[in-house]
Amino acid sequence: MILISACLLGVPCRYDGAAKPLRSFPPEFAGSALLPVCPEELAGLPTPRLPAEIADGDGATVLAGRARVVRADGVDLTASFLRGADCVVAIAERWGIKRAFFKSKSPSCGAGSTPGVTTAALHEAGVEVIELD
Ligand code: SF4
Repeated sequence: MILISACLLGVPCRYDGAAKPLRSFPPEFAGSALLPVCPEELAGLPTPRLPAEIADGDGATVLAGRARVVRADGVDLTASFLRGADCVVAIAERWGIKRAFFKSKSPSCGAGSTPGVTTAALHEAGVEVIELD
C-alpha cells in the first residue's frame, strides 16, 4: 500500500477548494493500493481555507519546535499541522506503509528543498516520501 496526497487523486481538498489531479500515474503505482490522505483536512482545517506557510524553517524545524506554520492572516496553525502529521503517521504505522507520493510545494506534503510538516514526520517514522507535481 502507498500513501498519496488526496488532491493528486482529484479530491478537492486544497486551500482554494480545488484538486490537483495527476495527468498520469507513475509506474511505481502498478500493483499497489493507493491510500489518499490530506493532512490538513485530517487536522480538522476547513476547505477552502486561507493558505499557510512555514515561517523561517521547514517541516523538520517545525517538529523540533523551532519554526511555526502561519496562515496568510498571521494566525499560528502549527498545532493543526502537527495534528495532521500525527494522523498520517498513525495511518502509515497502522498499515505498515513505507512509501508516500506527495504533492510538491505544500507546507504539509512538500518533499523538496523545504519538506512539509507531514513529510518530515513520515521521514522520522521511516517512510520514504516522493514528491509529485
Ligand atoms: Fe491536502 Fe497535502 Fe493536497 Fe495540501 S497538498 S491539499 S495538505 S493532500
